[in-house]
Amino acid sequence: MLSAGLLISSLWVNLQGQAIDPQVDTPVALVCQVSALAPCLTLLPPAVYTSLPNADRLLVSLGRRGAMAVPIQSGSIAGLVLMAPERLPAQIQTIVGGHSHRLELPRQQQLTLWHELGHLHISSLPGSTAYSAWQHEVLADLYLLWLAARNEGDFQGGWQQYHRRNLQLLNDIGHLSHWSVPVLFTALKTFTVRQLLAMSDFNDLIAQLALLPGGSGWPEPDELKEYASLTKRLFGAGSVQALPGYLYWRRERLGDWLVPSLQELMGEQGAAQLMKEHALGSENGASVGAQRNIR
Ligand SMILES: [Zn+2]
Repeated sequence: MLSAGLLISSLWVNLQGQAIDPQVDTPVALVCQVSALAPCLTLLPPAVYTSLPNADRLLVSLGRRGAMAVPIQSGSIAGLVLMAPERLPAQIQTIVGGHSHRLELPRQQQLTLWHELGHLHISSLPGSTAYSAWQHEVLADLYLLWLAARNEGDFQGGWQQYHRRNLQLLNDIGHLSHWSVPVLFTALKTFTVRQLLAMSDFNDLIAQLALLPGGSGWPEPDELKEYASLTKRLFGAGSVQALPGYLYWRRERLGDWLVPSLQELMGEQGAAQLMKEHALGSENGASVGAQRNIR
């Protein structure tokens, strides 16, 4: 596993996240810790190094984020991943049903690296510029789910990211930009780990879920806004009991997407009670959540 390797200041990996010798594998990414970014960048071939912004400028682009992918696509080099592990959350807290709940986020550094490698992979696809920024984020999380399953033999990594995205949305609707749950839910519902492992090419997964640009697997932007609006009305700070008729046509689906995370936070009974209060969800969603540990 890569966990120990993630602590060193620079590391070459392939896009499956495995440490490799850059001479023999392709395509590859250079992973740099921001604490030693300038020396790490010098490991790039001179032509690539001089074509990139310098370390100070890259750090400005990173801002306060915990990680960033920089696609390069020069020869065998797919890109650069900047990591600032101390900024990645080890847990996430949220208030639902009048109580504060906390979810631990173990191995967030590993999952984040897989997400960033997903960005590099997606950026290398022909037609990737047709994807919106939100679609890029969703596909990077789908890549994380796929890679975590391949490396660890289960969906735990995928579920952790799923819950993280849901709780971020409940805390702040601004996180809609990274809310991959609608697509992760379909992937987790459609495939077993075994079926996913049989897909050695991530692009097969994209095709099977109809997630090519313009594919039917993508929700419309207007639909997403309605889900966000309903979430804010039901769970946002200072939310009041929304009228039952408010966006009633989005409640079943939104509930199905939220309930696995609510069950994780407050148990099945607590989640069922909350869903009932908010008139959310269907039997379907609760059962997918309950089966989340089944391979
Ligand atoms: Zn991202």
